[in-house]
Amino acid sequence: MNVRAWLNTISTTSQTLPIVILYVTEGCNLKCRMCFYRNPLPNELTLSEIETLARSLHDYGLRHIVYSGGEPLMRCDFSLICKAFGRYRVKQTLLTNGLLLEKRLADICSYLSEVIVSLDGPTADVHNAIRGVDSFDCIVQGIRQAVSLLGNNKVSIRCVVQKQNFRELGTIVDLARSLGVQRISFLAVDVLSDSFGRTGSEAITPDRMSMLDEQEADEFSDMVEQLIADHTADFESSFISESPAKLRHLVQYFKALNGKCDFPRNVCNAPMVSAVITSTGDVQPCFFLPGFGNIHEKRLDELMKLPEAQFTREQVKHYSLERCKTCVCTLNIQPTQALLNKF
Ligand code: SF4
Ligand code: SF4
Repeated sequence: MNVRAWLNTISTTSQTLPIVILYVTEGCNLKCRMCFYRNPLPNELTLSEIETLARSLHDYGLRHIVYSGGEPLMRCDFSLICKAFGRYRVKQTLLTNGLLLEKRLADICSYLSEVIVSLDGPTADVHNAIRGVDSFDCIVQGIRQAVSLLGNNKVSIRCVVQKQNFRELGTIVDLARSLGVQRISFLAVDVLSDSFGRTGSEAITPDRMSMLDEQEADEFSDMVEQLIADHTADFESSFISESPAKLRHLVQYFKALNGKCDFPRNVCNAPMVSAVITSTGDVQPCFFLPGFGNIHEKRLDELMKLPEAQFTREQVKHYSLERCKTCVCTLNIQPTQALLNKF
């Protein structure tokens, strides 16, 4: 029983930190239209700093480390990073664009509990147009390799729904099925935040090149209803991760972006159970909210207990942050789930 994690979920104090999303680099080998991560930063955490971080996270109750970025496999010492966390027997999940999977997987597969690969289209044309690099065939091959080395219950696909692919939902599900992955999940494209390396005008202007317009949002609504009708078994088996209600939530999000309704109500307790640590050691309550310090300045448990961190958790709990109301990527860990250590 993880009483400290349970206390986190029923209050706004930080007794422990069970889930951490670690950006191991901001370097990336794709050029996605909705993201501006390209090159590693000069002062990214070294392997030795990550080893020290792994120990302090373990001391603070880490159960699940999620590698993100940038593209984690761009780090040539990534297998050593996995090894460092492997010492503490925590669950390790890799979020990857998949381009280097085929080359790098053999070195890391023994450490990983789960690999989630981003795939934004059922064909090279659709996927490559969004991802900015001719990468579809290589990524599909990487997914096949991952299924073969790790087993299909450890590999899944994530698709970011946007203007360029919203008509392809059904065919992406069919492709996922043919690749033998465990499941596929859908997220709406984030067009409003300053995350994903957006600065300046990209951070304050809604990205109309990626978001659906009013007519497209109506069309998307029809497509989601069709998917729900055609794929009943895939929803029931959770092969499609989201429930029908959650997919309708995506429709409402795109309609709300066009001013046609309110944004759907988000339920999220990410800052109560998790944190994002950037490639330079900044600690954030989640992907989208600003950081409150750096691991070079203070111990992690001290950072999590800072008044500003506490204040953010209270704001999230009371749903008073505008950012939470338009968020596309939430996390909700139930108290019983936390108590049973299901991270
Ligand atoms: S979304 Fe991911 S794969 Fe695409 S450029 Fe950004 S970090 Fe790279
Ligand atoms: S709703 Fe989004 S912005 Fe708000 S805490 Fe959750 S992940 Fe962060």
